[in-house]
Formats: sequence, C-alpha cells, structure tokens
Amino acid sequence: MHDPSKAPVKRVVVAGGGTAGWLSAALLKKVIGDAIQVTLVESEQIGTVGVGEATIPPIRLVNQVLGLDEAEFIRETKATVKLAIRFENWKTQGEHYYHTFGAPGKSLAFCHFHHFWLKARQQGHEHDLWEYDLNYLAAEAGKFARINAKDSVLDLPFAYHFDASLYARFLRKRCEMMGVTRVEGKINHVVRHGESGFITGLSLDNGNTIEGDLFIDCTGFQGLLINKTLGAGYDDWSHLLPCDSALAVPSERHEKTAPYTRSIAHSAGWQWRIPLQHRNGNGHVFCSRYISEDEAQHVLMSNLDTKPLGDPKLIRFTTGRRRKQWLKNVVAVGLSSGFLEPLESTSIHLIQSAIVRLLNLFPHNGVSDSLIDEYNKQSELEYEQIRDFLVLHYIQNERYESRFWNDIRNIDVPDSLKHKMELFRQNGTLVREQNDLFSEGSWLQVMYGQGITPQDYHGIVNSMSDEKIQSMLSSIYDIKREPLAQIPDHDTYIEMLCKSAR
Ligand SMILES: Cc1cc2nc3c(=O)[nH]c(=O)nc-3n(C[C@H](O)[C@H](O)[C@H](O)COP(=O)(O)OP(=O)(O)OC[C@H]3O[C@@H](n4cnc5c(N)ncnc54)[C@H](O)[C@@H]3O)c2cc1C
Repeated sequence: MHDPSKAPVKRVVVAGGGTAGWLSAALLKKVIGDAIQVTLVESEQIGTVGVGEATIPPIRLVNQVLGLDEAEFIRETKATVKLAIRFENWKTQGEHYYHTFGAPGKSLAFCHFHHFWLKARQQGHEHDLWEYDLNYLAAEAGKFARINAKDSVLDLPFAYHFDASLYARFLRKRCEMMGVTRVEGKINHVVRHGESGFITGLSLDNGNTIEGDLFIDCTGFQGLLINKTLGAGYDDWSHLLPCDSALAVPSERHEKTAPYTRSIAHSAGWQWRIPLQHRNGNGHVFCSRYISEDEAQHVLMSNLDTKPLGDPKLIRFTTGRRRKQWLKNVVAVGLSSGFLEPLESTSIHLIQSAIVRLLNLFPHNGVSDSLIDEYNKQSELEYEQIRDFLVLHYIQNERYESRFWNDIRNIDVPDSLKHKMELFRQNGTLVREQNDLFSEGSWLQVMYGQGITPQDYHGIVNSMSDEKIQSMLSSIYDIKREPLAQIPDHDTYIEMLCKSAR
C-alpha cells in the first residue's frame, strides 16, 4: 500500500465543504496551482454549521488573492461593511464602547496618541478617545466609502458582514473554475497505512474511496480525521471562556443597515446583531451553567429589533483548541481545529491564517516532523493570543448584579494577559507581541472601554507644552471629521456597488 509518510504531496483532499473547506480549497489551488490536485468531499445530508457572518479586515486580502471582484462578492453574498463592533452593557448595564478597526488619533514616533490625550484629559479635556477615530465617526453616522488618502490619519479600515453559506457557494464556483474536484458523499470510514498510521483515503457511503497524500480536515466540531481518527486531543479552555452554547436566528432586515456589529451583554452571555442586505443575523451566546435553554431563547427573542424569520437553532460548543492541529498527514482547519467563540469574529480569520501558515510550510517533498512542529507552535501561539483578548472583555466588568459576571470577574487570568493589563493600568503602556492579530489600537479600545483607566501617561508627553498638545488634539479632531461630509450613507454605498457588479 502507498505510504503517504514517504511521498511528496501531489494530491490534497479537503474533507468538508463549509466555509473552512471551500476557503482552504480555493487558497491552496490558487496559490499552488497545477502542482497539486485538490479534491473536496462534502455531504449535503450532514450540512454545515450555518452561522458565521462577521469578519475582520484581513478577509479583504484573501478575496484579493483569490481575485474576487469586490462588487460581485458584495452582491452575491449580501454583504455589508463592518467598521467596528459596538459593545453594549459589557462594562456596566447601559454603557457602551466601540472596538473599531481604526485607531484613535494618529501614529506618533515613540509614543502613542492616547498618552497625549490622557494628559489633556487629566486637565479637563472634554473629548472622548473615540472622537479621534474616523471608524467610530463613520460607524455612528452610518456612512461608508473607500477613502484613498495619502495620510494614514484618514485610513478607514473595514471588513464585511456576509451570509456565510452564500460565501461558501461563491467560493465553490471559483474553486470549480480553478479545477478543484467536488465529490458528494458521506465519509463512512477513514483508511490508514498499517505502519505509519498516515491516512491514505476516505471511503464514502457510495462505495468510492478518495485517495490522497495530504488531508485537510474541515469536518467541523467533530474533527472526523484529526480527532476521531487520529486522536489529536483538545485543550479545553472553558475555565477561561465558559460560554458553551449559542442560539441563532435570522430576522428581517433593518430599514437602514449599520456598518458595525452589535454585541450586547446579557445576564449569562451576550447577543450579536449582524446587519446583512437581506436580513439580520442574531444569536445569543450563553453559558448553560447559568441559564436554561428556554430562558436563553426568551432573552434572544425578546431582544430582536426586527421580526424573526424562523425558529432559533441551538449550537453547543467547547471553547479551546485542538492540541495538535497538524498530525501525521492531516491538518485541521476551521471548527475541527478549535473554537474561541464569535466575540471578535476570529473564526473565519483563523481558517485563512491556518492556510497561509500551511502554504508557508507546505510539505511539497513530503511531511516532516520539523514542518509539523513549526506549524503547531505557530498555531498554538495564535490561539493563545486571541484567547487572551477575548478573556479581557469578560473579566474586566462591573456587572455586580449577575452571578455569571461576578464569577467570571474572579477567574484565574493567564499571566500573559495579567501582564498586559497591569502595564496599561500603570501608565497606559501597550504591548503587542509579535504576530498578535490585535493591534495596539484594539487592546487600547477594549482595555479602556472595559474600564481600565491608566494611572499615568508616558513621560515623553511632558516634553510638549500643554498648548501644543491642545493644538495637536484639535487639529486631529478637525482632520478626522473632514471626510464625513463627502462620504455617502452606508446603504447608498452598498447599493451603488451592487449595481456596478459585473
Ligand atoms: C454560534 C457561532 C457563531 C459564529 N459566528 C462567527 C462569526 O461571526 N464570524 C466568524 O468568522 N466565524 C463565526 N463562527 C465560526 C464559523 O461558523 C466557522 O468558522 C465556519 O463556518 C467554518 O465552519 P467549518 O467549515 O469548519 O465547519 P462546518 O460549517 O460545520 O462544515 C463542516 C463540513 O464537513 C462536512 N462533513 C462533516 N462530516 C462529514 C462526513 N462524515 N462526510 C462528508 N462530509 C462531512 C459537512 O457536510 C460540512 O460541509 C461562528 C460559529 C458559531 C458556532
């Protein structure tokens, strides 16, 4: 029998046709081209998880690499623009803050903008931090356009909200045009090499076997190849991120779509509201130890702001990561590799970054331990960094009325996160580890938004006179507002773009 542990990789088999499967197949085929054959196996009978509608800016790079036309993509996936997430009731009931894709102020050498603002604020300066962030201003005004400014102070970074099943369909068309073979069928049995234990093929319920050299496991939470077959194990992080369930329901579209996601904290979790062109996506993420399914459903349905379009669907999960995301000749991508809950819309991004990592370390000449180890090291760090950022939202709360929020405030925080929070608390210092997905601007907005106010600011600020600081702040304040008068309403922009699609 052919032993894939000793063979160059020519045949890649993607198991699963959700967002992970189609995105993996598309990127691998597009980048590696004719040097590999890509086959995707999926089962319509099993279906996909069917949620996952908010993204972060690197999705634009993926679309660009795949050569997708933006207007066509927006029209076909019923997408809208996402500039930020509005976190409501997370610190205390009734308060909100934004985590935007921009950053307050402008980048300054050696010292972040917020230090100057902190000093001015101590002296009674009236404007809030977000008043200096164009993403916030455009989100609040419900406006959007691409801005091609020379000065980065006017950058307006964005991502999309889209219908994930339409995105998978869109990618499927691309894949088939590029020569990816799609096979319909349920995988009944996984065939392994007797000596190496590497996977040699997937047997389907129709009697066919799909053979390959490398297998991408995109079979969702179960991890059919990586876990059920190879037993890669799972690091359970529910002591840090205890939500374990979600109820999702679509509702009618809003008359006016907002260019941001809403994340609304409830008594034992939180609710998302994602505006698409044809409907809203809604879901209640909750911890079943603190609230029953019936109560969670009641919370969701009584907090919809448009008419529901169906019954809520329940999804159970365990936050954490697959202990080995690459094992033998199987790479887990998507939900089979772990799940960190959708608070910062990172899952689709994790699919993208897993494939980029695999492309960097692609085993053209055969799978080796060093490639596997490097891949697993990088993915472990990535998951831990995202986990810390998510945990920050929960632990730094002042919601004393709820058992869930009281308990979560007292969890044992990872040292890596404690360190970051302590530095910021002392004098506003922000540290971004190498390759951290979240920028200093992201850490700043969530730490400050959740209520950590630095006790001091960076000493460099004192080298500038108070008058100069005031004048710098007011000039940035004015500059950030300049584009608003020229950019259209978000809905008008989407409509114009869809009309221009090929
Ligand atoms: C509540 C919730 C909210 C989310 N929100 C977001 C969000 O806002 N943003 C974001 O980026 N991500 C979000 N996600 C994550 C996102 O949904 C997933 O990352 C994404 O859909 C990828 O899923 P997947 O392709 O890994 O798995 P799935 O969609 O479950 O696909 C699995 C595939 O494997 C196939 N399959 C399984 N078993 C077999 C078999 N035996 N034989 C043949 N085929 C098989 C299935 O048919 C299917 O095609 C959310 C997830 C959840 C649970």
